[in-house]
Amino acid sequence: MPTFQAPRGTTDRLPPEQKYWRYIESKAMDVARRFGYGRIDSPMFEDAGLFVRGVGEGTDIVEKEMYIFEDRGGDMLTLRAEGTAPVCRAYLQHGMQNQAQPVRMYYICPVFRYERPQAGRFRQHHQFGIEAIGDPDPSVDAEVIELAWTFTHDIGLSDITLVTNSIGDPECRPEYIRSLKSYYEKQQTHICQDCKGRLERNPLRLLDCKVETCRALGEEAPKSTECLCADCDTHWNRVQSYLDAMGIANRVDHRLVRGLDYYTRTVFEIQPAVEGAQSTILGGGRYDGLIEQLGGRHTPGIGFGSGIERLALNVQRAGVDVPDEPSPQYLIATIGEEARVEGVRLANSMRAIGVGAILANGGRALRGQMRQANALEVSSVLILGEDEVRDGTVMVRDMATSSQEAITTEAFLTGLRSG
Ligand SMILES: [Zn+2]
Ligand SMILES: [Zn+2]
Repeated sequence: MPTFQAPRGTTDRLPPEQKYWRYIESKAMDVARRFGYGRIDSPMFEDAGLFVRGVGEGTDIVEKEMYIFEDRGGDMLTLRAEGTAPVCRAYLQHGMQNQAQPVRMYYICPVFRYERPQAGRFRQHHQFGIEAIGDPDPSVDAEVIELAWTFTHDIGLSDITLVTNSIGDPECRPEYIRSLKSYYEKQQTHICQDCKGRLERNPLRLLDCKVETCRALGEEAPKSTECLCADCDTHWNRVQSYLDAMGIANRVDHRLVRGLDYYTRTVFEIQPAVEGAQSTILGGGRYDGLIEQLGGRHTPGIGFGSGIERLALNVQRAGVDVPDEPSPQYLIATIGEEARVEGVRLANSMRAIGVGAILANGGRALRGQMRQANALEVSSVLILGEDEVRDGTVMVRDMATSSQEAITTEAFLTGLRSG
């Protein structure tokens, strides 16, 4: 066992896995571009208070999962615990309320949570997310959901389900929570220990409890969409009609409430059709009260976040044909020190014109260098020996056909430049 290991709950992403990440990131950036979202990169750590106020005290994130620390200057900081609060902080800090609304932004960044180590849970994971801030219109909800739906299809996932719900706003939610509470209070003996605690602190969370008896009770629980005030009801119906207009089918599930306190009205998730709700691959919703909570004027917003680790896993499982990372096409094999100098020079010239070249391990005999070419799966080997150096040529060996021919170095480079 080596002395040092990557910290628990973190992983190294090695070269062979990179293609899935580049693929997902490039699809994310492309869909963001088509919908007019600009990239934002915020710092890896923030004032701890941002998440305490933004995500909410009493949430698992704030109570148990934040990487919180005092820096040497005595400031309380935390590693980015989720994606939305920092974007809202930036929106306020940079006066984006003065720009055309909504302001559309996306991010691709690591998120840190002290999770219990288990399969598929990471203490550093990565998210692609978007936020549209400053417009309450239901067409923005539909746009954000459309973007999420488009993105998951773009990366090749088709066996997926869109689940939606509206959880109301401060106007109608208190009434809903009252009826939810009274429903569950009558069932006290049937709910799990965790839910007994939730009943006081956050009754909405009983709905997405995974314990079987709680699940069954959740099925029959009062539905938020039946308790919406007139404004929320109109908003919800418009979101649905816009999704209809685009042909985006969704399943309304009254048990979908999302984990964070700041959500209002529309919430949604994209789940693989084959698995349970545990494996949500993308989730989001409207957060009309969040910016106010962070000290700004009342400003509506909506967005989603999606874990790239989980996306990559789903892309692999779905057998999506992901393009390989471009690898060097040429290996340069050399025999003797003089040829070595020529090899260094040739590699330098090739890279300068944008062609990938690797110099073979020179301590090996030619046969060893050819084995290296096989291992690297290069398509051609350029061989330089005494004769080639004297004649100013290079032997080009095609690895697929094992055929080879000598060509002047100049002609070879000219061919690369024009090819
Ligand atoms: Zn429960
Ligand atoms: Zn309402």
